[in-house]
Amino acid sequence: MIYFDHAATTAVHPEVVNEMEPYFERLYGNPSGAYEFSADVKEILQRVRQRIADSIHAEKEEIYFTSGGTESDNWALIGAAEGLKERGRHIITSCIEHHAVLRTCEYLESRGYEVTYLPVDSEGRVSVNMLKNTIRPDTILISIMFANNEIGTIQPIHEIGMFARKQGILFHTDAVQAYLHEKIDVRKLPVDLLSASSHKFQGPKGVGFLYIRSGIVLPSFMHGGGQERGRRAGTENVPAIVGMGKAVALGMRDYEVNHRKLLRMREYLIRRIVTEIPYCQINGSRSQRLDGNVNVSFKYLEGESLIILLDMEGICVSAGSACSASEHTVSHVLQGIGLPEETARGTIRISLGAENTIDELNLFVKKLKLLVEQLREFSDEYQQQKE
Ligand SMILES: *Cc1c(COP(=O)(O)O)cnc(C)c1O
Repeated sequence: MIYFDHAATTAVHPEVVNEMEPYFERLYGNPSGAYEFSADVKEILQRVRQRIADSIHAEKEEIYFTSGGTESDNWALIGAAEGLKERGRHIITSCIEHHAVLRTCEYLESRGYEVTYLPVDSEGRVSVNMLKNTIRPDTILISIMFANNEIGTIQPIHEIGMFARKQGILFHTDAVQAYLHEKIDVRKLPVDLLSASSHKFQGPKGVGFLYIRSGIVLPSFMHGGGQERGRRAGTENVPAIVGMGKAVALGMRDYEVNHRKLLRMREYLIRRIVTEIPYCQINGSRSQRLDGNVNVSFKYLEGESLIILLDMEGICVSAGSACSASEHTVSHVLQGIGLPEETARGTIRISLGAENTIDELNLFVKKLKLLVEQLREFSDEYQQQKE
């Protein structure tokens, strides 16, 4: 099998599995226990917290463990909205956010909040000027993703953060795709809340974190025990948190190597596709792009069919995003960058990981060329313009 869907999820690194192993049967103590057996477990959680904090130059008190990207986004948005409702009820986001943000915004709209969904340009970038014109005296929160999961576009997060800070508006970024792929330093980056998810960087599923800048009061989202300094109740998923910690350590250690390797593979793949396959276009930005993302539209075919044929060859790629795959509607992100429906329908996303190889890319391009040609045989339009 060739796996090119790392934006959907990644394999857990073998060293991560090893690290987690003792925390199931041997070191199973509840971190809240009052005895020595629990103290060791509590201690490891603090070490992981410190390691994650170090990875973005935060303090360990600013890192809160969650069940993943979705919970972090929900907490950031709903928490901020509830906490600041006396000040205002207006929220600004973009039209190409992950559903974890968009659907949460829709929920907030149903609770009496007003949400502005900023449009993006043809590369998927939010306009900072437009954002500046959208704020109102009652704007309480701006939530703009660091990098898009479908087209890989990186947003002008620094500029947005500077502006938000000057205006005294809370700023959240969904950094699930960017964390450990882009350098993040919260000492310089004016972001107040930042979401990340372990299974996108070779850690286990169902665990992630929310960075909450110190001084920011975010109401709890999970109510119960006093875990996470009283802000996120529930017994900690210790093995998963330990695994996430190891994945962070590996991601930091291999950052440069992986970054360079992924960039090289991405550029190689883009070059081969655009030079060897007619009637296709790369979506997103060529310069402000996640290192492993290739999003490409082929004219005269259905992306869904292409994905099925690739799957029969043992190659996993995705149509836009894992979340929209089952919905059979055109992806809101491709709509957001203004792709005509016909072009959007012929789109696939290839998201590379560090364990992919040039050999896999070569085999993929070979199959892709054949399958694209094969599918186009069914297109009358294609036949007509060939004549
Ligand atoms: C995967 C993803 C999420 C959701 O994270 P989970 O841990 O799967 O809940 C949120 N935002 C973005 C940008 C993602 O890619």
